[in-house]
Order: sequence, then structure tokens, then C-alpha cells
Amino acid sequence: MKKELMAGWGPVIEVWEGYACDPSIRKSGSSGGAATALADFTLAKKGFSGVLHTNARKDVPYLNETVLSKTRDELISATGSRYAPASPCDGLELVMDEKQPITFIGKPCDVAAVRKAMKSNSELARKIGLTIAFFCAGTPSTKGTLELLKKAGVQDPSTVHSVRYRGNGWPGMWTVQYSTAAGEDESTEMTYAESWGFLQKYRQWRCYICPDHTGEFADISVGDPWYRDVEEGEPGKSLIVARTEKGRDFILEAEKSGFLILEKRDTTLLPKSQPNLLGSRGNIWPRLIILRLFGAAVPKYVGFTFFRFWRDELTWTEKRQSIIGTIVRVFKKRLNKRIDIKRTAHLEDRQD
Ligand SMILES: Cc1cc2nc3c(=O)[nH]c(=O)nc-3n(C[C@H](O)[C@H](O)[C@H](O)COP(=O)(O)OP(=O)(O)OC[C@H]3O[C@@H](n4cnc5c(N)ncnc54)[C@H](O)[C@@H]3O)c2cc1C
Repeated sequence: MKKELMAGWGPVIEVWEGYACDPSIRKSGSSGGAATALADFTLAKKGFSGVLHTNARKDVPYLNETVLSKTRDELISATGSRYAPASPCDGLELVMDEKQPITFIGKPCDVAAVRKAMKSNSELARKIGLTIAFFCAGTPSTKGTLELLKKAGVQDPSTVHSVRYRGNGWPGMWTVQYSTAAGEDESTEMTYAESWGFLQKYRQWRCYICPDHTGEFADISVGDPWYRDVEEGEPGKSLIVARTEKGRDFILEAEKSGFLILEKRDTTLLPKSQPNLLGSRGNIWPRLIILRLFGAAVPKYVGFTFFRFWRDELTWTEKRQSIIGTIVRVFKKRLNKRIDIKRTAHLEDRQD
């Protein structure tokens, strides 16, 4: 375990840059398809019976649903990050019916929730054989996707056949397929920079006060190796972090069995790839104080270091912006008031 990384990045045993051996998984994956390749390995070689994770909802493709994938093809159909609300923990009851262990894939918050559930439910703990989290800067709301559809010229979301946020290239294009008023099939694309640049403004408040953007509670976490520029047409690569000894064993066995290619081993790739995340962690310190001062709900975080990163990682301008921005958000988002949850014809989702 790297002691010097613990306060900022959680448990780090080893870090690699790598990718799926299977070219179709690598291509369709968000970065290098590492999450899917590891999940595929657990199905093919470890006797696991399924993978609990997220796919586009079949009937409303701009929403997400939890799926228990049992085959490589099902895994491939769910590759690619979906920058919209998803709650893979709502499928935990499916896991209880399984005879063999399963792999759980989700955001850091999803994995933290699973870990907590496993602590209080020993049967569930036996069924979840491996947890994989991906790095997460925050989830944009459904409204973000709906506004992006409008920007792309899709006025009626009920005409949408599919939405992909990335993958099929690295980082890949945001792609929507829909029917025009004349009934013709149409497809529109946007670059990752443009689509994420737009969507990130719709991140939920919960993500602004999230202490874990890199999956500290998982056995394995994966993200983008953003420590360098991606060249035009470069095939995808993932940053792969072993968080537990079990995670490391799975990674090395997946490599030996020909599911994963591990290219480069270097723990400094983690901080180099996500340099802004220490500042994000520091920002939580004043945010929690401001929430308390204005009578808003305040989460309780145990075992995280915030003040040191607030003091050392942010400039005075960033500190000022963070404080003012938080006070503005308390009132703009009405964080100190109860919020009504609305339903619309297409959405069974909170519109905030
Ligand atoms: C909202 C969000 C924010 C992210 N922010 C960052 C970031 O700041 N930095 C960074 O390096 N990486 C970020 N990622 C992760 C990154 O996009 C890749 O997912 C990661 O590099 C793993 O790539 P992969 O090719 O191994 O994944 P793949 O092999 O493509 O597998 C992706 C897996 O994630 C699951 N999944 C997709 N969307 C969701 C979702 N919304 N909730 C739960 N599960 C989902 C799929 O079911 C699939 O199993 C983010 C992803 C999401 C969804």
C-alpha cells in the first residue's frame, strides 16, 4: 500500500496503464475497455455467473437501467460511460438469486453503497465476488441530456433510438440516433470535449460534495490516463488501480489469461492523470461548513482528509470562488429547502 497516496487517493496497491485484449471490447469501451475486460474474465475464467452494471434503457434510451449481464455480448452492449443518472444498486436483489458470485461495476458512490450493504448482509457479501469502480467527476442530471439533445437539433426526445456518450474510439464521440419528423433515421455527433463541457454544468449537487472521485472502496478502479494528450485516432487505454490484494490478483490473472494487456506500471500515473482532484477534495472542507451555516443537509464523512488539500492545493482566487459559488448554490438550488420530485410523460426521474 502506498502510504504517501492514502490521504489524497485512498488505498493504492499498484497502478497500470492497459487495455482489453479483445479489440471489440477495447474499441467500444470508454477508455481502454478495462472494466469490461475484467468483468468478461470473471465470467469466462472465475466461474462468476453475472455482472451487475448499467445500460441504456431499452424503451427510453436516454435514461439508464440496471442489468445483470451474463454473456460477453451483453457486456459489450453496455460498454461506454453514460453521463446520466444510474443506480446499479437497485439491482442488488437480482444478485441474491444467483448461485455463483457476480461482479459489480459502478461509480465510486455506487461501490461505497455496495460495500456498506455487504457489511450488514453477509449473504450479499458472499455473492459479490469483485467490485470495479470507475473514476467519476460527477453525474449530470437527465435534464442535461435533454438540453444536449435540443442543442444537437433533437427537439422531441421520444424520437431517440440511441444515445452514446463516448467509446467507439478514445475518448469517442457523443452520438444520438433518432427519427426525423419525416420518419427518416438521422444521426448527430459531438466531440467528447463539447458534450462533456456542456453536460458537466448539470452535475448534481451531491457530486460537488463527493469525497471519492476515484473509487476508493472498490477492489479495482479504472479511469482515463489523462496524464498525457491523446493522439488523433489513438486506440483506447485505461488507468487501472488495484485497491485491494484481491483486486490485484484479478488484474494479474486477467493479464495471464489473455483478457487484459498491462503496459506500464507506475503509481505516480494516478495523481498525474487527475491533478485537479486534490483541489476537489479540498473544496469539500468549506462547502460542508457553509451547508451547516445555512441550515442545509450535511453528509458525515469519516476518515477523509479535507483541510490540508483546501490549504495547499487551491489558489486564493479558487478558494474565494469556491466559497462564493457554494453560498450562491445554497439559494439557487434551494439546498436548505425541501424539493418536490416531479414526473413527466417520458421521465421517471428527478428533474433538477
Ligand atoms: C458520470 C461519469 C463521470 C466520469 N468521470 C471521469 C473522470 O472525471 N475521470 C476519468 O478518468 N474517468 C471518468 N469517468 C470514467 C471513464 O469515462 C471510463 O468509464 C473509465 O475510464 C473506464 O473505461 P473502460 O473503457 O474501462 O469502461 P468500459 O469497459 O466501457 O465499461 C464502463 C462500465 O461502466 C458502466 N457505466 C456506464 N455509465 C455508468 C453510470 N452512469 N453509472 C454506473 N455505471 C455506469 C457500464 O455499465 C460499464 O460496465 C466517468 C464516467 C462516468 C459515467
